Amino acid sequence: MAVAWSLLLRGGTLIDGTGTPRRRADVAVEGERVVAVAPSLAGAADRVLDVAGRVVAPGFIDMHSHSDLFYFGCPSAESKIRQGVTTEVVGMCSFSQAPLRPDQHALVEGWVGGIGMTPDLKWETFGQYLDALRSVRPSVNVVHLVGHGALRIAAMGFEARPAGADDLRAMERLLGDAMDAGAWGFSTGLVYPPSAYANTQELIALARSMRSRHGFYFSHVRGESAMLLDSIAEAIRIGDEAGVPAQIAHVKASGRENWSKLEGALGLIDDARRRGVDVAGDVYPYNAGSTKMDNLMPAWAHEGGMAKLLERLTDRAARKRITDECLVAGERWGTVSQGGVGFDQIFIAACRRRELEGLNLAQLASQTGRAPAETLMDLLLEEKCAVGMVSFSQSLENVAKVLAHPALMIGSDSIPLFEGEGDKPGKPHPRCYGTFPRVLSEYARERKLFSLETAVHKMSGMPAQRLGLRDRGVVREGAVADLAVFDAATVKDESTYPDPHRYPSGIPYVIVNGRVAVDGGRLVGPGAGRVLAPPR
Ligand SMILES: [Zn+2]
Repeated sequence: MAVAWSLLLRGGTLIDGTGTPRRRADVAVEGERVVAVAPSLAGAADRVLDVAGRVVAPGFIDMHSHSDLFYFGCPSAESKIRQGVTTEVVGMCSFSQAPLRPDQHALVEGWVGGIGMTPDLKWETFGQYLDALRSVRPSVNVVHLVGHGALRIAAMGFEARPAGADDLRAMERLLGDAMDAGAWGFSTGLVYPPSAYANTQELIALARSMRSRHGFYFSHVRGESAMLLDSIAEAIRIGDEAGVPAQIAHVKASGRENWSKLEGALGLIDDARRRGVDVAGDVYPYNAGSTKMDNLMPAWAHEGGMAKLLERLTDRAARKRITDECLVAGERWGTVSQGGVGFDQIFIAACRRRELEGLNLAQLASQTGRAPAETLMDLLLEEKCAVGMVSFSQSLENVAKVLAHPALMIGSDSIPLFEGEGDKPGKPHPRCYGTFPRVLSEYARERKLFSLETAVHKMSGMPAQRLGLRDRGVVREGAVADLAVFDAATVKDESTYPDPHRYPSGIPYVIVNGRVAVDGGRLVGPGAGRVLAPPR
């Protein structure tokens, strides 16, 4: 009897995700698995994709994403899957929507909301939350961590104080429950309250409590500007003393005066790895970052949550204290997170007042006739902190250095998801649409920073190995059929800062768990992604 596979990709060039050189190979899929890889496969298939002249690669793994805040409103995740991404690691930078105490809805909505999504928090435990996520059938696979901020709010509210013994026990119990339900570990955002209120001992203890469950510690570190080196050292120490893998989020040096610190930061990672510490990290291929604009306010101003922050923004003494702390040389805005960034480098990405989107704070200040610092605080107050921003704080040379580092892989740090054609709100960071094709086109093909094989490895085999995803991230017989097909000569990110809502070109097919999800460059449903269970 003739073999009939469900899918056959014929005539392509295989870059298999391991970093080894490309080769001619057909790839046969049966159900959700790759069942044959050979230079020429003769069997029949329900569907044959002619991929001659194109590259067949493992589906890309986004090592750092905030899509979990958006799956419920946009389960197709079109802006992500059309980049060739088939798995996302989410629950990053201390943020997750569970666990959730029933009496804290308003607090948590103020904390995770306001960036283009309206939270609909209808769960308490992390397990209930994951069930809700499965029910909306995201198009991509999901590796979910639990946010340290969510643990801390549930255990002790939005209080700016060290955790006591009872608080810590409560957080450990919540973390253990979340991991039993399918979380892969926890993440911090040590510039984002309330995660920022934790000391190192709290984080070591919490990380140690998940050691027997083989949890991961993902760290948005305590400062990426003046405090960069101490902050990287702290993340390494937490992983080392707790005996768990530490992953440093979006490795960078923010603020011009700190750009020279990058080499030292990479040196700390190299030294730790030589000592046997299990530390690695991720990076996005852009010199701008993006987050909620209220993160330009110092940590103390957030104590008690957003309602308290808004109260402080109406208080003249508090505003003066904020300005005294943050205004650098009268012309830039400096925080532990960003370093000193010019007001003309801080752009409004998302705002209820659509006419402000795309403006920078210097432009807005000249419209209002107010000082830029006052303009910033006025805007946060008027919009109740529901403002997203894009800020240019990094050096392009450093971005290339970090991308090329052998222990670092690709994570978009993207926040919103988008789908469909036509008008869409905001001027989101182009990394939402372009991270993965940009690594292939700008950094491998154009700048020749590394080979295409290395680029693919950093976006598939390397993160899969890091996570212990044994059956994904590589194309071989027996692996799960998560695949991306792209044209090496034309693949390109089309999304730009002024015109961000553009899907990439040159990625005709994306296959998730054996199902064709992007077909001839078009999204086809329904979602075939899964919430992935951690290997134990
Ligand atoms: Zn982050």
